[in-house]
Amino acid sequence: MSEENLREILAGVEQSVRDFTDAEAALAQAEQRVGQTRHKVFAQVERLRAEVEAVHSPELIGVLRHLYWQQPGIHGRPLAEAAGLTLNDMLAAIGPSPSGILCADCGTELLRTSRSWSPPARPGPPVCPDCAAQEQHDQSRQWQVERLRDRIVSEAAVQAPARDWRAATELVLAYPPLSQRIERGSLIDQQEGIWRGWENARAIRDRLIRAAVSDDDAVAVRAGEAQLLVATAF
Ligand SMILES: [Zn+2]
Repeated sequence: MSEENLREILAGVEQSVRDFTDAEAALAQAEQRVGQTRHKVFAQVERLRAEVEAVHSPELIGVLRHLYWQQPGIHGRPLAEAAGLTLNDMLAAIGPSPSGILCADCGTELLRTSRSWSPPARPGPPVCPDCAAQEQHDQSRQWQVERLRDRIVSEAAVQAPARDWRAATELVLAYPPLSQRIERGSLIDQQEGIWRGWENARAIRDRLIRAAVSDDDAVAVRAGEAQLLVATAF
């Protein structure tokens, strides 16, 4: 590389560093001006607040609404304070702002209630509060209906001759689950219901004895118990 080329490149470096330093100075000055003018905005809001009758006067609220929703460089909390309000009171007074996001169910536009608002977290596309409440209501109704149906099914009576019930209970009771070395009431017993099937069979057999029915008499057993008995017998 020639001596001349090197000098030219170094001069270019010097110039670009000078330009960068100038730009930094301009940025610092601009930031200072933004800070000063922002304070002027707060000072004017304070003057307006002092001038209007009430904190909820339409002029003051209109200014606050514009500054909060349209001027993100004007910070919310000092703005509210300049107007003699807390941030929450100011948000309540100025009301929400359209978000540009539509409810996936009814098409209503979702409203932002603060600058930090984001659509409610949920699986699937966002929906408005009304549709979300309706959805929740439907789900809990559906759940209640299913619970009710389960209960009705499990309490429905299964009719069979006493002979069949006796055979099934004897089959189960002949093999108490002792060989599994699982104590009644232990955690694994509770989790897997090892003894539940056996005790269910014993309860049914005791009822058959107390009822003193003959083999051909029809006996009703609740479906839940009958199902457990048959499953255990198998
Ligand atoms: Zn909706």
